[in-house]
Amino acid sequence: MAFQLPELPYAYDALEPNIDARTMEIHHGKHHNGYTTKLNNAIAGTDLEGKSIEDILANVSSAGAGVRNNGGGFYNHCLFWEVMSPNGGGDATGAVGEAINATFGSFEDFKSEFAKAAATRFGSGWAWLCVQADGSLCVCSTANQDNPMMDTAECPGTPILGLDVWEHAYYLNYQNRRPDYISAFFNVINWDVVNAKFAAAK
Ligand code: MN
Repeated sequence: MAFQLPELPYAYDALEPNIDARTMEIHHGKHHNGYTTKLNNAIAGTDLEGKSIEDILANVSSAGAGVRNNGGGFYNHCLFWEVMSPNGGGDATGAVGEAINATFGSFEDFKSEFAKAAATRFGSGWAWLCVQADGSLCVCSTANQDNPMMDTAECPGTPILGLDVWEHAYYLNYQNRRPDYISAFFNVINWDVVNAKFAAAK
């Protein structure tokens, strides 16, 4: 069974004005669709065919660049759509809100650290909030379509929140103003989903 592009859990224009409909349409329909197709092509006829995306990423060091780039691209965007909602935003809630306060001092301190990771990632990549092997939270960023689940990661962990900082994620609306896009992302974070991922990762 080949990997399939997931449906968005909301309409393309649902995240406006924070993320515009045209960007969402191209990002999901062209970019994410492209990663999905190229991942399927890269694993077709190999022993990776039929494995879960988590297994593929956990052993990506022994696969080629096509699997690393497109496997990451497939997984990362699936997570990205899930952790946003037109009804999102506000301070982190529930258990993950408590863990964020305990780890970073306050929600504002976490927000600063996450925004800094996203803003200072040179070129293309992602910012993450992860659960590490010992159950603790950390913020980090990765280049290109890498993520912390890969066995190549410098910041290994299970991502529970991720922000795409490739220019294709924001350039139509924000041009070079990546910090404004990062601020807007906080208006659409679905903390219910992040809490579910936090519970599953611990
Ligand atoms: Mn993207």
